[in-house]
Amino acid sequence: MTKRIPVSFEFFPTKTDVGAEKLRVVHQELQLLNPEFFSVTYGAGGSTRERTLAAINDFNGKGTPVAPHLSCIGDDKARIAELLDLYKSQGIDRIVALRGDLPSGQVGLGELPYASDLVAFIRQHSGDHFHIEVAAYPEMHPQAESFDKDIQNFITKARAGANSALTQFFFNPDAYFYFVDRLQKEGIDIPVAPGIMPITNASNLIRFADGTGAEIPRWIRKQLATYGDDSASIKAFGHEVVVKLCERLIAGGAPSLHFYTMNHVEPNRQLVLDLGLA
Ligand code: FAD
Repeated sequence: MTKRIPVSFEFFPTKTDVGAEKLRVVHQELQLLNPEFFSVTYGAGGSTRERTLAAINDFNGKGTPVAPHLSCIGDDKARIAELLDLYKSQGIDRIVALRGDLPSGQVGLGELPYASDLVAFIRQHSGDHFHIEVAAYPEMHPQAESFDKDIQNFITKARAGANSALTQFFFNPDAYFYFVDRLQKEGIDIPVAPGIMPITNASNLIRFADGTGAEIPRWIRKQLATYGDDSASIKAFGHEVVVKLCERLIAGGAPSLHFYTMNHVEPNRQLVLDLGLA
């Protein structure tokens, strides 16, 4: 039997009122699974600021804690401080602190060029009020100079005051176990929650992976390719692959799982139910 560990769900802010209404329904459905928290992404440089705030307002105070993502690249300290104060006044006590990626064409790193600078700034500005989550990359951040440098940069981020981490999605559990082991050897033992990307559509998955530097193992790519447009087979195969991945992660000591929901109830709900984590 799989050990029961907490789950969290990530949303992105919607662009329309109709989208926001649909997301409220998704939130209600997923809340029935008793997650540890929901999180809402934030466009770098403040590009989704109002929409992220609106989504946070929709979900805050509805029973399950909500954690806004906050990125620092291209933003300034005053605007970030304003958001931190606002979230604190709303009773929010968890933040996902990120560097972000600037949209192409936009230049200027801003006053806080790296996530470690943002974490240090949050601690300086808000003390210990927030539980700070940061991003982790078991398969290495795509812009990192080397795996070792990436690990050292992660350690700087943890030492700046991060409480825990959420990973980029991956399909190779050994990458995660190696990453966590390396951190432990360096004396860093903050919980690192694997980020889980459900598989429902081959081309979308390949696009996300290409955009984030995550690897889709050859056997998964090949298998998906054989299904062509057969969506039912892709979903059935994807479900089996992700359940097995989660089972291995849980058996190997993952402290919790963070689901990239893509703003959908399914297959997130079914995955959590089949893993016995509801
Ligand atoms: P950092 O930790 O700053 O690392 C970025 C790169 O810089 C790495 O290669 C690192 O090795 C290197 N680095 C770090 N410090 C230094 C230093 N001092 N000197 C030289 N190099 C250094 N993006 C968004 O825009 N909005 C979101 O809401 C969002 N949510 C995310 C949620 C999760 C769980 C994850 C995994 C990613 C998310 N992202 C989001 C994407 C993220 O912003 C990008 O991956 C971004 O490129 C890196 O962000 P980071 O916080 O990991 O940056």
